[in-house]
Amino acid sequence: EKPEKEDPKIEGAVQIAVGVKKEVDFAAWYTNVLVKADMLDYYSVSGCYILRPWSYSIWEIIQEWFNSKIKEMGVENAYFPMFISQKVLEREKDHIEGFSPEVAWVTRAGQSDLEEPLAIRPTSETAMYPYYAKWIKSHRDLPLKLNQWNSVVRWEFKNPQPFLRTREFLWQEGHTAHLTKAEADKEVLDILDLYRRVFEELLAVPVIPGVKSEKEKFAGGLYTTTVEGFIPTSGRGIQAATSHCLGQNFSKPEMFNIFVEDPNDPTGQGKTYVWQNSWGLSTRTIGAMVIVQAIIVPCGITAKTTEEQRQAITAKCEELVATLRKVGVRARADLRDGYTPGYKFNDWEQKGVPLRLEIGPQDLAKNQTLGVRRDTGVKAPIALTSIEAVVPALLETIQDEMFTRARDVYWSRVKQVTEWEKVVPTLDNKCVVVLPWCEVESCEDDIKERSGRAAEPQDERAPSAGAKSLAIPLDQSHWDPIIPGKTKCPACDRDAKRWTLFGRSY
Ligand code: AMP
Repeated sequence: EKPEKEDPKIEGAVQIAVGVKKEVDFAAWYTNVLVKADMLDYYSVSGCYILRPWSYSIWEIIQEWFNSKIKEMGVENAYFPMFISQKVLEREKDHIEGFSPEVAWVTRAGQSDLEEPLAIRPTSETAMYPYYAKWIKSHRDLPLKLNQWNSVVRWEFKNPQPFLRTREFLWQEGHTAHLTKAEADKEVLDILDLYRRVFEELLAVPVIPGVKSEKEKFAGGLYTTTVEGFIPTSGRGIQAATSHCLGQNFSKPEMFNIFVEDPNDPTGQGKTYVWQNSWGLSTRTIGAMVIVQAIIVPCGITAKTTEEQRQAITAKCEELVATLRKVGVRARADLRDGYTPGYKFNDWEQKGVPLRLEIGPQDLAKNQTLGVRRDTGVKAPIALTSIEAVVPALLETIQDEMFTRARDVYWSRVKQVTEWEKVVPTLDNKCVVVLPWCEVESCEDDIKERSGRAAEPQDERAPSAGAKSLAIPLDQSHWDPIIPGKTKCPACDRDAKRWTLFGRSY
C-alpha cells in the first residue's frame, strides 16, 4: 500500500506502520520494527529466527572489524565440529552444571538410536581443549590463540527475543592459552575493550565495562568481565559481551591436562598448567544497527517535469552514490518507479537509515542536495561540490550525537542507592541501581528474591523480575569512595566492597 501524500509526518507514519507503541509493549514494538525493517523473519522452530540480508550484513561488518583487530593481536581463526560427546562435555563439573539445562542432544540418526547421544555445542571449551592438550607441547607453543566464527545452541526456556535471546545464535568464540596469569589477565581486558568499541564506535551503543559477581560468572571460569548495556524503555540491563579468564580450571590434570615444562624451573622438572581465556560476542549485538548510511531519493518530479530533467536527476543520484561510496559511505539510491517520495522516505526511515539526501529539479539547478537527519529531523542543503567531505563528517556527527544522547540516558538511569528501601522503587522507575555491595553470594540471592516481589506489573515477556548483579564496574570513580569497615551493604549490612550495578535484565 502506497501512501499518496508527498510529505507524510514521518514519525507518525512509522508509529502506525510499526503498529504498537514502544512505551506500551516494548517487546512487540521491538519485534515489529525488526520485521518491518526486513532485518528478520520468524521461523518454524520456536526461538530461532532468520537473519535477512539487512541484518546479516551488519554482522559481516562487525566480523570484518573484529577480525582485523584480533588478527593484529595474533589470533587465528579455526573451526571445530559442532558435536561434542557426552563424556567430553561432562568433564568439567561446574561448566556442565551451568550449561546442562540448555544443552540440546542428538539421539537418533535415521531410524536408529545413537549408541551415545551427541551434544550440540553450547560453547566449545570442551570440544577444543583436548586438542590444546595435544598441540601445546612446550612453552614455545604458547600463547595459542584461536577463534572461531560459528553458531551455538542453547535451548533457553526463558522467552526468546530476536537477536537478544535465541536458541541458536551466531557468535565468535576466542580461546587462548598463555604461560602466565599476567598475560591472560591483560588479554581479557584488551578483548573487553574491543567489545566496548564494537558497541560504542560501530553501533553508538553505550556500555559499562565491569566484572561479574561469582554467581554470574561463566560456569567453570575464574572470573568474567562484561560490557553491560541498558534498554531505557524497559529499564533493563543487557549483557552485551563477555571476556572470561578461565584460570587453570580447564588445564589442570584432572581436567584437560594442558601443561608445559616450566621454562623458569632450573631443574627442568617443573610443570606449569596453562592459563586460559575465552571470549564471545554474539548476534545479540545486531539489534541496534543499520547497514545503509545514506539513502538518496529523487524528489519533486511532477507531471510538468520534462523527460530530460528526469534523466538528469536519475543520473545525479547515481553519480552521488558512486562519489559517496568512493569516500567509504555505504550509500544507495532509491530509483524505484511507481513509489512516491513520501513512501520511500517512510520505508528507509523504518529501516533506520540515518541520512536521507533528496534531489529534485530545484536542487539540481542549485547544484545541491537536501540532507535530512533521521535522528533529529533537521534538514539542511549540502553543496554537491563539497559532498565528499560533508557527508562523512555529518555521519560522524550523527553517530557521536546519538552515542552521547544514549550515554546520557544510560547514566541518568544509573542511580546510586545506599538504603534498601529505595532499591525496588528505583528499579520500578526503570533504572538500574549501583549499590555499595558486600559481594557475598547469598546476599545476591537475597537481593534477587526481595526485589522480585514488586507490586508493579511486570513486562510478561521480559524474564526475571528480580534484580541481579549486572557488573562491578571497572571504573569505580563515578561514586563516593567506599570506606572499608564503614560503608555497609544496604541489603545485608555487611561491609561493602565495591560499587556494583544491580538491575532487572534480559
Ligand atoms: P557466554 O558464553 O555465556 O559468556 O555468552 C557469550 C555472549 O553471548 C554473551 O555475552 C551474550 O551477549 C551472548 N549470548 C548468550 N546467550 C545468548 C542467546 N541465547 N542469544 C544471543 N546471544 C547470547
